[in-house]
Amino acid sequence: MPKQPITPSQIDAILPQTQCGLCGYGGCMPYAEALVKDNAAINLCPPGGVVVLKQIAQLVDQDPTPYVQEMAEKTKPKLVASIREDECIGCTKCIQACPVDAILGAAKSMHTVIAMECTGCELCVAPCPVDCIDMLELSSHETADEQLQKANIARTRFKNRQQRLAQESLKEKASSKKSVSASQDADEKKAFVQAAILRAKMKKVDGVR
Ligand code: SF4
Ligand code: SF4
Ligand code: SF4
Repeated sequence: MPKQPITPSQIDAILPQTQCGLCGYGGCMPYAEALVKDNAAINLCPPGGVVVLKQIAQLVDQDPTPYVQEMAEKTKPKLVASIREDECIGCTKCIQACPVDAILGAAKSMHTVIAMECTGCELCVAPCPVDCIDMLELSSHETADEQLQKANIARTRFKNRQQRLAQESLKEKASSKKSVSASQDADEKKAFVQAAILRAKMKKVDGVR
């Protein structure tokens, strides 16, 4: 029987869902799609380490051996972000950067990380203007079940965020179109009134003559 083609979802299911972008793609699913559609390299996921490298290799039918040593060296430990809350100035930049909405807070108030939902991607660290986010190595060992559960939550939260951002960008486009057409309407009205005033003035001048 011919082999069924592999789908991005099958690959995404084994990726760690850190959503860190270290693979050079905008998240785990985009990397999964690139592996299927563009023959992306199989050794691009440091959070997944050698385990994920071998799983990807099996799915795409490639030999992982040339990459095992290199991947063992660049495997990333599991991390969690922690905000030094008394130093936080409430700028919301970390919230905007978090790919899984794992940070709570509002403008000008203290922010905090929901540890259970943080994937350790580190994307919030660089944007923080006061450098008050620490990345801590997870000390307790997570079981395979716990890891799977966390990955599933991260996948859902990443997807929800992507959808929300897409909707917000559509709304923004629609409202900027509306304001352009409203200002065009206003310009047309102004031109119409000016033309009417000019016509009236011309009539008066004609009447005087
Ligand atoms: S965990 Fe990071 S490097 Fe690995 S696939 Fe997901 S986004 Fe890419
Ligand atoms: S809190 Fe920071 S490290 Fe944790 S998932 Fe969000 S951006 Fe990544
Ligand atoms: S980026 Fe830093 S200062 Fe700004 S809200 Fe986040 S933790 Fe606070």
